[in-house]
Amino acid sequence: MSKGYITEIFNSLQGEGPYVGRRHIFIRFAGCSLPCFYCDSPYAKDPRPKFCNIFGDTSLFKRMVNPVSANVTIDCIKELHTPDLHSICYTGGEPLSSAAFVKEIAAEAKSMQLNNFLETSGNSAKSFASVADYFDYASIDIKLRNHLAVEKEDYDKLYGNELECIKISVNRGIETIVKVIVLRNTPVGEIEGICKDLSDFDIKFVLQPVTAHPPLQSADIVPDVKELFELSATVGLYLQHVMVIPQVHKFMGIH
Ligand code: SF4
Repeated sequence: MSKGYITEIFNSLQGEGPYVGRRHIFIRFAGCSLPCFYCDSPYAKDPRPKFCNIFGDTSLFKRMVNPVSANVTIDCIKELHTPDLHSICYTGGEPLSSAAFVKEIAAEAKSMQLNNFLETSGNSAKSFASVADYFDYASIDIKLRNHLAVEKEDYDKLYGNELECIKISVNRGIETIVKVIVLRNTPVGEIEGICKDLSDFDIKFVLQPVTAHPPLQSADIVPDVKELFELSATVGLYLQHVMVIPQVHKFMGIH
């Protein structure tokens, strides 16, 4: 079995999207090549962290030296398992930066009859395709132009990869969630264009108002309720399942 770099593994409640409040074991893979300014887990962008921290409930109870093996990761999943578990959530950083390692763990988790849930920025359709057969749920981001996730000239390439990930996900029968982080003054026309591109797909579309982390970000970046209503109504013209869901774990003060 191979080895990889993991920032942390923990058991907590899903804080985003339609499965908010459901118990997950999160595996936060190390490294992400994008520079989203609102990133809430910048500590996971280091591709080679020395340690992988293991949390159960709220306290750190174990620390392992990276890289860790897929076998050891599976042992952690067994140790952190609780009867209310919904899924194993592969998150980051960007889990698809470690696609082969993710695939190995996900295959083993599937053989244990566990649900696998992938959270990805969608920046590599090729990597997504290589792991898709092992996943039950996928939450794929669409970055807006004002997220500054890539240089202007690379935006269309990123968007193309995100759309391709969504297409692969739906075609492989994965329950597909598309997540867009919404800032104040998000152009309605940009959201509408995305929805037109997605109108043929059976997806759940989540508008997630950005969480400001002072002093790094001012509260001025958070959209107001009126904007969210307007964006939601616009999405509703093209897609059946639209929802506005903030990061609930931030309100709860949990990891
Ligand atoms: S893609 Fe995700 S992990 Fe990477 S910088 Fe953006 S928000 Fe952070």
